Amino acid sequence: MKILVLNAGSSSHKCCLYTIDGILPEPPPTPLWEAELDWHDQNNAALIVKTKQDNKLTEELSSLSRSEALLYLLGTLWQGATPVLQGLKEIDVVSHRVVHGGHDYQSSVVVTAEVKDAISTLIPLAPAHNPANLEGIVLMEQLLGNIPQVAVFDTAFHSHIPDVSTTYPGPYDWIEQGIRRYGFHGISHQYCAQRAAQLLNLELADLRLIICHLGNGASLAAVKKGQCIDTTMGFTPLDGLMMGTRSGSVDPGILIHLMHQGYSADRLDHLLNQESGLKGISGISHDLRDVEIAISQGHKQAKLARDLYLHRLKSCLGAMLMSLGGADVIVFTAGIGEHSAGVRAEICDALAFLGVKIDPTKNDCAPVDQDIAAAESTIRVLVIHTQEDWMIAKESWNCLMT
Ligand code: ADP
Repeated sequence: MKILVLNAGSSSHKCCLYTIDGILPEPPPTPLWEAELDWHDQNNAALIVKTKQDNKLTEELSSLSRSEALLYLLGTLWQGATPVLQGLKEIDVVSHRVVHGGHDYQSSVVVTAEVKDAISTLIPLAPAHNPANLEGIVLMEQLLGNIPQVAVFDTAFHSHIPDVSTTYPGPYDWIEQGIRRYGFHGISHQYCAQRAAQLLNLELADLRLIICHLGNGASLAAVKKGQCIDTTMGFTPLDGLMMGTRSGSVDPGILIHLMHQGYSADRLDHLLNQESGLKGISGISHDLRDVEIAISQGHKQAKLARDLYLHRLKSCLGAMLMSLGGADVIVFTAGIGEHSAGVRAEICDALAFLGVKIDPTKNDCAPVDQDIAAAESTIRVLVIHTQEDWMIAKESWNCLMT
């Protein structure tokens, strides 16, 4: 089965082509082809394509609409320097990451008119993502007609979180209005939970895991018996941890105070989503690597930014530990989780009172999926390279074959 994965974001499109024959391979296979489009602005984007055979293409696309650029990207599947197919007709299924599935979509589904309506209805809750996801689905329908398309929701893994954790203690009406914790990064959290069990050669159902997805966006998930029971992102991806440019949780009274001073909703949105977090506090960058360089040069704001990042991460980890009633495994994933040995070491040091201990040599190693805990550690500590695209492909296989 040839599965095309479309992972459309607000400013980038990632696509992969997997082929699965017979049974699901583990560990994840290398995609036959992968492509990424990064938008500099409305009409210009950078395209990078690479194939399993190591053919590569890098190109600047100018004056193209999003759909035109996506069509161009798909063309590299069978023409130019990176062909892996004779034509689009060889694709059996298209699998889409859809950021928001609301409360009704608790697992991946084959796309129907009703599913498209639901994705559209949820646009106000994910204005930067759901329109791009829908656009991808419609474009593939136009190109490929009736082949199955599967929607894999980033919220689905969180849909079994108990009400006590999804309810905000505002007025009861909020529940009817759909104002509740949804949680995000679900595809990554689910992948990491499954991969952790596989690496440890244990049953996922027997484990209590805390997954730390620490990329530009960041969230924690508490996973028990294979299901997510708590997470740090909420009604929107702004809640919880301090992130690259997002504030994470702040006292809502601050927003009321600023609104009284004349701040509009759009200005607050921009401040909290784009000008806060590591970037806002350091005044240097959203990227932890730049912040760390500035610290080494004695930059005080940069030091505060990193200290605050770790402080918020520790507080939220404590909350997840309490929700789970302890933990067997902590997983670090995404940009910072996979690459920052320093952040991992400091977090694990803070957990020493629970008997957590890492092996410094393993922690400093190049990132590969592995257990970096010392033999005597009471909690296993794993570094896992998150593979959302493989999870999205796997979901469509499960959806169509079982
Ligand atoms: P996204 O959430 O956009 O998918 P990633 O998961 O790729 O992002 O994470 C990107 C972030 O990871 C960067 O902004 C940077 O803060 C961090 N990062 C990547 N490599 C390192 C590193 N070696 N040390 C510290 N931080 C890193």
